[in-house]
Amino acid sequence: MSSSWLELLFPFLRSLWRPGQKADQSPPLAAEARPFTIAIIGAGIGGLTLANGCLKNKVPFVLYEAAEEFGTVGAGVGLGPNAIKALELIDPTLRDKYNAISSGNLTPGKENVMFDNVYAEEGFGAKRGWKPAPYGAPCYDRTSAHRKDLLDILTAAIPKENVKFNKRVRSMKQGEYGVTIVFEDGEIAEASAVVGSDGVKGPTRGYVLGDKYPGEVDATYSGKYVYRAIAPMKDALEILGEHAGDAKAFCGHKITFITFPISSGTQYNLVAFKHSDTPWTHPQWTKLVTREEMTADFDGQVDQRLVKILDWAEPRQWSLHHHMNTPIYYNNLICLLGDSAHATTPHQASGAGQCIEDALVLSHVLGRVGDAKHLPLAFQVYDAVRRPRAQKVVRTSQEAGEMYAWLHPDMGDDMVKITENFNKRYLWIWEHDLINDLRVAESKLARLTGAKRM
Ligand SMILES: Cc1cc2nc3c(=O)[nH]c(=O)nc-3n(C[C@H](O)[C@H](O)[C@H](O)COP(=O)(O)OP(=O)(O)OC[C@H]3O[C@@H](n4cnc5c(N)ncnc54)[C@H](O)[C@@H]3O)c2cc1C
Repeated sequence: MSSSWLELLFPFLRSLWRPGQKADQSPPLAAEARPFTIAIIGAGIGGLTLANGCLKNKVPFVLYEAAEEFGTVGAGVGLGPNAIKALELIDPTLRDKYNAISSGNLTPGKENVMFDNVYAEEGFGAKRGWKPAPYGAPCYDRTSAHRKDLLDILTAAIPKENVKFNKRVRSMKQGEYGVTIVFEDGEIAEASAVVGSDGVKGPTRGYVLGDKYPGEVDATYSGKYVYRAIAPMKDALEILGEHAGDAKAFCGHKITFITFPISSGTQYNLVAFKHSDTPWTHPQWTKLVTREEMTADFDGQVDQRLVKILDWAEPRQWSLHHHMNTPIYYNNLICLLGDSAHATTPHQASGAGQCIEDALVLSHVLGRVGDAKHLPLAFQVYDAVRRPRAQKVVRTSQEAGEMYAWLHPDMGDDMVKITENFNKRYLWIWEHDLINDLRVAESKLARLTGAKRM
């Protein structure tokens, strides 16, 4: 076949190319803008939201997930106004669906209260004359959802053919024109670029940071673990009375109980934090203990009515690890998103929100890339816009955890000061101008690629 025949045939063959095949890494013909496909690794909140963003921005993608189906278990998750706005900017129907599945406080008038601060001790501070002290803001609507419900709304629009289950990434290798991905089952796929939304322990982080920053690949133990329970609200109300219906933070020395309604107020979500001075040495990140060991963690510090709710908890310690430092979110054609980039402790209820913001910005930028050769520039722009903010969330969350557990040097057990601080500390997260982020990202990309402002 003559070379002119080949030239005629090449665009046609490319149009037949399907994800997982090899064509994507072929070198471009001269002056031809190279189309691209993104491999998204991991179908958690981050990867699924990115997939929704890619659909909206017409970015071709394949989502690879290690599990055999979309996530079906989990506890409650609360989204701040920034996260809800990010959902809306990706697709207004996602915001509407989230509103339909999420729950607020049960008491009218408490719509803007994130939590009431309460003493965890016997009597919840009544003997000190303490009244539950609210914090929140007019911009903030208290909402939380069952994680499964949130995953369900994120998966609804994703075409089946874009998702490959039972695909656990074993290794990746970058070439000049793409990334080769090898899975545990031996299958090999190729993509123009990879976005690793594979969580705090996922392998992608090693491919982004391993060479230059090997000390930053592994997450570090944040000094605390949690027990998690979901109880029927009717039982919680029977046990805790007025203390159950609304979101509350029960504080004490080295412990915090965070509680809030989910599932349209029919369920009561509880996360019990225990700070410890000893390193986490168990080979797994979760550890099954006895029921007695679990309740002993809170002996003498927590009202027994609250401990009773732990009857609905599996006695499993979930260690909390985070990425306090991530010097960069990409390495040429491989990029991090969500917890793989910036796993955080949950004290500001913002980890999932940051995943969603990542997905908004990255899908927006990718949607404006016209040639595969510009993918590293797109990742550079995403890194510049997202990393400073997301890493600040990680740092300030650790500090918030110290406050809740009376370990902060400037606050100690001063609940008035702590509540005052909480009334202000979330505003920079909640009131952030995401539309400006998109504008900045667009103009940075245009500058880097030499394109006219889009
Ligand atoms: C106790 C607790 C409470 C929290 N509460 C809140 C809250 O109220 N609000 C909030 O905003 N955030 C909260 N968070 C944080 C939030 O849950 C996380 O930030 C978010 O779920 C992370 O999503 P992700 O998609 O990045 O990662 P993950 O949810 O971890 O998803 C990663 C996916 O990648 C897949 N995967 C991993 N390795 C591979 C591989 N090798 N190959 C293929 N696939 C792979 C996994 O199977 C998984 O599906 C909380 C966290 C905790 C621990």
